[in-house]
This record gives sequence, structure tokens and C-alpha cells, in this order.
Amino acid sequence: IRTAGKAYYNEDGTAIYIAGAILDITEHKQDEIRKNDFISMVSHELKTPLTSLSAYVQLLQYKSKQTDNVFSAQILDKINIQMKKMSIMIDGFLNVSLLESGKILLNKTNFNLTALVKTIAEETRMVSPSHFIQVLGPEELIVHADMEKIGSVVNNLIGNALKYSRKESLIAIKCEIQDDYAVVSVEDEGLGIRENDLPRLFDRFYRVESPDTKTIAGFGVGLYICAEVIERHNGKIWVESKVGKGSIFYFSLPFSTEQ
Ligand code: ADP
Repeated sequence: IRTAGKAYYNEDGTAIYIAGAILDITEHKQDEIRKNDFISMVSHELKTPLTSLSAYVQLLQYKSKQTDNVFSAQILDKINIQMKKMSIMIDGFLNVSLLESGKILLNKTNFNLTALVKTIAEETRMVSPSHFIQVLGPEELIVHADMEKIGSVVNNLIGNALKYSRKESLIAIKCEIQDDYAVVSVEDEGLGIRENDLPRLFDRFYRVESPDTKTIAGFGVGLYICAEVIERHNGKIWVESKVGKGSIFYFSLPFSTEQ
């Protein structure tokens, strides 16, 4: 129940009457919960066949390498890449529903942020050799955070940098210390983002509408999840961008006192 109204008092401070409205939002809340449960159920159900598909594809890949069937191997690699994309999308939906139901728990440990970023960059270079990916930063940058979730934020930002820029352009990633924060920035030489789109970029399901982005697949949940994860760590996420020049996405994590 939500009330919107005003109380009127007499001189000794006792309320005489309250004017306003009482809205029953229970129904609305329940709708949200049902929607969330539905999304998470569908995502889970989609994951199961995808996992076995992936196992079959791996088996076929192995066989076609054994028999030197180059054509099959190439097609299977393509299938694998599409399945990976599908899996990332499903994880995205799963994460949104978990976030909204408040069920996401952080599993914090101490880890080297630069090393994590370098590993993800290396994996990306293997899957998408189309871009130059560079990582700069101190050898050791220890943070106390949820490594898997921070990894998914880094993955998302690098994924977007790839998606919204030309082949053979540079993606420059930096890990730095700024006062009491570890800061990671992902810079691309891509499309850039108009100033009036910037405030809504981290909103759920927000996608920029432009002729350039129309053909690029996505659901507008990636940055929303990134922002939620970083906020849960008491960090910040922000962006600087110029249309036609490129974007720099930043996130910061506080150096925690709890070890
Ligand atoms: P998606 O990429 O699935 O649409 P995101 O939440 O990751 O969803 O991003 C929201 C929107 O922000 C995108 O639709 C895109 O228009 C814009 N965007 C995100 N990253 C970049 C980038 N590096 N360069 C240009 N535009 C970007």
C-alpha cells in the first residue's frame, strides 16, 4: 500500500484529518514478481538444451578435426560462436531477473583486477581477432570484490566496444589507482553516443536508436546489469563519448577495508 497525501494538524500538533489517496500497489508488485519468475524460468529452461547442444557441437568439432573435414570444422566454429552469443544473452536475462528480485548475492574475495582484465582481453582476442585490444595497468591491483560478476562487467564493456566499432580499430583498456578506488576504463574508436542518449544509457532495455545501431543485435540489458553490479560494490560507472570519435566507459571499485 502506498499513500500520497497530506496531514492537517491543529495548534497542539494533533492530526485533524488526512487528505489524499491510498493506492493499492500489491497487485502491481505481484505482477512484477510473476514477470521476474517467468523470465528466470524461461532462461533456465533455455539453458539446459543449449548446454547439451554445445556438448554435441564439441563432439562434432573433435570428430571433424580427426577426419580433417575443414568445411565441417569451419561451420561448427560458426555454430559455436552463435551459441556463445545466445548463452550470454540468456545469462543477461537471468541476471536481470535475479537483480530485480534482489536475489543476487556477492561472493567477494581478494583478486588481481589487472590479471582478470588481461585474461578476459586474451580470451576476447581469440574469439574476435578483428580488433586490436591493448591492456595497460600495474602488474598487481588487488581488490576485494565478486570476481565473476566484475568479470562479466569487463566482458560486457569489451563486448560493446567490439560491437559498436569498426574492425581493426583499437580497444584500449586501462587499470589504474585513483585515490581510494581501482578504476578500469575501456576506450574504443567507434560510433560514439549522442549527448542526449547518455543519461539513459544504463537504464533497463535502453538502446540508442540510430541508423548505425539498427542492424546491431542487442536487448539493452548489458549496461543496466553492469551498473547494478558496480553499485552493489559501492563503486561508480560512467561514460565519456563523442559521436564519430568513440567512447570511454569507466567503472570504479573502492579499496575495501574488509579483507
Ligand atoms: P545492447 O548493446 O544489448 O543494446 P547495452 O545495455 O550493452 O545493450 O547498451 C545500451 C546501448 O548503449 C546500446 O544499444 C548502444 O546503442 C549503446 N552503447 C553501449 N556501448 C557502446 C559503445 N561502446 N559505443 C557506442 N554505443 C554504445
